Amino acid sequence: MITIDDLLNNVGKYNMKDTDMIKKAYDYAYLNHFNQTRESGEAYITHPLNVAYILSLLHADSDTICAALLHDILEDCNVTKLELECIFNHDIASLVDGVTKISKLNFSTKQDCNYANTRKIITSIKEDVRIVIIKLADRLHNMRTLEYKSVFKQKENALETLEIFVPLSYYIGAYQIKNELEDLSLKYLKPDSYKEIEEKRNIIISDSNISLSLMKLNIEDILNRNKIENEIMFRIKNIYGIYKRLEEGQKLEDIHDLLALKVIVNELKDCYYSLGLVHSLYHPLNNKFKDFICNPKTNMYKSLHTTVFGNDDSLVQIQIRTFEMDKIDSLGITAYFDINKGDTRSIMQNNLKDKCQFLDSLKDIDSMFNDNMEFVSQVKNELFADKIYVFTYKGDVIELPKGATLIDLAYKIHTDIGNNMLYGIVNDEIKNATYVLNNEDRVKIVTDVTSYPKLEWLDYVKTATAKKKIKEYGKKINI
Ligand code: MN
Repeated sequence: MITIDDLLNNVGKYNMKDTDMIKKAYDYAYLNHFNQTRESGEAYITHPLNVAYILSLLHADSDTICAALLHDILEDCNVTKLELECIFNHDIASLVDGVTKISKLNFSTKQDCNYANTRKIITSIKEDVRIVIIKLADRLHNMRTLEYKSVFKQKENALETLEIFVPLSYYIGAYQIKNELEDLSLKYLKPDSYKEIEEKRNIIISDSNISLSLMKLNIEDILNRNKIENEIMFRIKNIYGIYKRLEEGQKLEDIHDLLALKVIVNELKDCYYSLGLVHSLYHPLNNKFKDFICNPKTNMYKSLHTTVFGNDDSLVQIQIRTFEMDKIDSLGITAYFDINKGDTRSIMQNNLKDKCQFLDSLKDIDSMFNDNMEFVSQVKNELFADKIYVFTYKGDVIELPKGATLIDLAYKIHTDIGNNMLYGIVNDEIKNATYVLNNEDRVKIVTDVTSYPKLEWLDYVKTATAKKKIKEYGKKINI
C-alpha cells in the first residue's frame, strides 16, 4: 500500500523544494475526504494518493502532483475553485477544475452530461495537456482497481477507456499508459480472449527464449567489439495489441513483433551503424524495414524497425533507438516532465503543437460542432478511428482518418491548396479529387488559381477541416 511518505520520498528524488506544499495538499485532501470510502472498503484518500504516486513516477511537477491529490475535491466535497486558489495557487486550482466533471444539475439526461464531460476532457488538451495526463493517471488507477465495481460498471468503464482514454494516450505518445489501459480494458470486456492470448503468449515467450537470448548475445558482442555502448532488452507486445491483430485476421505465428529485441544506444549515428552490424549478422527481410527516426510517427515515436531471419527459422523484429528516443517512445509528452525543467505547461503545449498533427484538427472540430454529441462522434470518427499515413512528394508524413480523400489532404496541407485543387497525383498516377487515399500513398496536389471547390465535395470529405473550408468558401461567393 502506497503512503504519503512513499509519495514524498519519490518526489524528493527529483524535486526537493516543493514537498511541503505536497504535504499540505495531502492533508487538505485527507480532511475533506475523511469518512468517505471506496467500493473496496479502503479510505477514499488512497485513490488520489495513488494517482499522485503514478504521476510522481513520471517526475511530474509539483502543481500536477498537488492537483492529483486534490482532483476529486471539487466534485465530492464542499470546496470551491476559489478556495483552492487561495489556499494553493492559480495553476493547481485550474488543473483541479479541469479534471472535475460538470455537475449533473446542468443537464436533463445522463447522456447529455456524459457527452459534455467527454468533450471537456478532450478539449482540455488544447489549453493544458497536464489535465489529460492527470485524467489518464486517474483512469489508470480506477482500471487497476476495477474488480470492486459491479460487472455492468466494469464493462462500461472498460469500453469508455478503450474509446476515449486509449486514443488520448496514443496521441500524446504515452505508450506505457496506453498499453496498460488496453490490457485492463480487454480483461474486463473479453475475459476469455484475454486469458487465451495471455497463455499462448507465455508459451511463445518461453519457446523462443533460448534463440532470442542467443541473438541478444551475438548482437551485444558485435556492438561491443565495435565500441558502441548498448543496452538490449526484450520487448513484448501487449495482449490487446495481439488481440487486435488476430481480429484483423492474422495468425498468431505471423505476428513477428510479438517478441522483439530493443537495442538502445547513445547517439543517433550509432543507430544506423548498429543497424548495419545487425544486418551483417542476420539477413533482413527487405520490405520490412522502417525508419521512424527520419519519419517519426505523428505522436513523436522514433525508432528503426527491421525484421530479420532469426536463429531458429523464425522472423524477429529488432528495434534500434537512442536512450532519449526510448524515453519519449514509452512516455510521450509526459517525458517532458523530466527532460525540461521550468515552465512544464508551455514546454508541453509547444511540443504538442509542433510534433502532433491532431491539435489543428481538434480545433476545427471544436469550432464546428456546438452540439456535444456531434462533437464526440466527429472526434471518434475522424481522430480516434483507424488512421492512414500518406507522404507528400517532399516526404512529409500526413495523418488522416481512414476513408479520407484527396480533398481532405489538400485542406489539411493548406486552405488555398484545397480551394484551388484541380486533381491529385497518387504514386505517379493522376486521380480525381474524390479519390480515397490508402496508407503510404505518395501524393501531390495539383492546383490552379482559377479553380475553386465544388459543393458536391461535401459528400466526399471525412474531416471537419475540409467540410468547414468548403462551406466557408461557399458562403464567401454566396452559393
Ligand atoms: Mn478520481
